[in-house]
Amino acid sequence: MDFAFNDEEELFRKTVKEFCTKNLASRIKEIDEKAEIPKELFSSMAQLGLLGLNVSQEYGGLETGFVNTAIAAEEMGYADISLSTAIFPFLIGNAFAYIVDMYGTQQLKEEILPKIAGGEILLGIAATEPQCGNDLANIKTKARVESSQYVVTGEKAYATGVAEIEERGGGFLTLAYTAPEKGYKGMTLVYVPLSRPGIETTLYDAVGKRGSSYGGFSLTDVKVPKHFLIGEEGRGVRLALEGVSRARVLMSIAAVGAARRCVDLALDYAKQRIVFGKPIASYQGIQFQLADDYTKLEAAKLLAYKAAWLIDKAVKREIPTAAAMTKLWVPHVAYDVINHVLTWFGAYGYTKECNIEMALRGVLSLLSGAGGTENTMRITISRSLFGKDFV
Ligand SMILES: Cc1cc2nc3c(=O)[nH]c(=O)nc-3n(C[C@H](O)[C@H](O)[C@H](O)COP(=O)(O)OP(=O)(O)OC[C@H]3O[C@@H](n4cnc5c(N)ncnc54)[C@H](O)[C@@H]3O)c2cc1C
Repeated sequence: MDFAFNDEEELFRKTVKEFCTKNLASRIKEIDEKAEIPKELFSSMAQLGLLGLNVSQEYGGLETGFVNTAIAAEEMGYADISLSTAIFPFLIGNAFAYIVDMYGTQQLKEEILPKIAGGEILLGIAATEPQCGNDLANIKTKARVESSQYVVTGEKAYATGVAEIEERGGGFLTLAYTAPEKGYKGMTLVYVPLSRPGIETTLYDAVGKRGSSYGGFSLTDVKVPKHFLIGEEGRGVRLALEGVSRARVLMSIAAVGAARRCVDLALDYAKQRIVFGKPIASYQGIQFQLADDYTKLEAAKLLAYKAAWLIDKAVKREIPTAAAMTKLWVPHVAYDVINHVLTWFGAYGYTKECNIEMALRGVLSLLSGAGGTENTMRITISRSLFGKDFV
């Protein structure tokens, strides 16, 4: 057993940290206030390989390990505590570009993966609909075959990246019924470019991680070629969940990064804020809360990196549960830690000047549903323990 990152991983962390310190950390206010990621960041992230970490080299990716992807997520969360940049384009793009790389047709891979890795176009996931998120069997979107095309009709909601994809190009891996009578086994994942005729987009005004957009789109007889199919018909839920497991781990690790950054800011503040003649760092009320929180954050981080390690080792049977445990526990710990240190700043903490509230809003997106709700994680974990006959 070895808890240390190897030399290559440490070097990778150093490189990403330097990039984030230089390009991201000083711009988080701007990202949050303008509710957009600066355009040049997409190309500079791509130049460093950050948008194709899990894409094969033959399609222009770095084809690096998942632990490295997790390291990058942590550093991005540390630099951009709103979590905007870490979540989109970084982690959703990487999680689902991997799915295209693994299961897409040769033609689709050639057409989109080099552009995704190069930051020219972006990729999202569209499973949720206005009437259902957890209960995916209830989706209404359908894809029917007409000669050499899929014709997709329905409505997708609460998807990350709608505005960026509309502006820069790219599309969504879209979950649709191809055989509704088969329930979960009748659902299929199809790549749908957002520029296709028949698509209308909507944007929502999200509470947090405002730099990455949040929206939906309707599809009216949207035609895509048959080679846009991911895997086989009927495997859509499985493949979507494989990508979602990866995203769950990465978003949790990004939340650890944001919480670590907030703790670092609070440590500095607590050492210089004098109250009743002493720095607040010298009060046990503060010290003990910090000790508890730091311990929980370290445990949460280990849980998340263990899940990343399992993904790298391709321990397929354990990955969904490990990812669900990570997503259930880690964002919650990060949220509590950030919430506590916000109060160390007193009245100043309750201003936008202080920035900590930005992290709180960002991590709240993970508690609200991004990557699945807490009860969905509980269902996944219980099912792995009791078996499908009970849960
Ligand atoms: C910031 C953000 C980004 C997102 N990005 C994407 C995206 O890119 N692509 C995408 O497809 N979706 C995305 N989503 C949607 C997300 O996947 C859904 O929010 C999630 O699956 C939950 O679905 P729902 O919101 O419809 O909640 P519902 O399914 O309506 O659930 C409502 C509440 O009931 C609880 N509940 C449901 N079923 C049970 C049960 N059996 N037992 C106990 N409690 C239950 C849930 O835990 C929840 O608290 C995003 C959501 C957010 C908040």
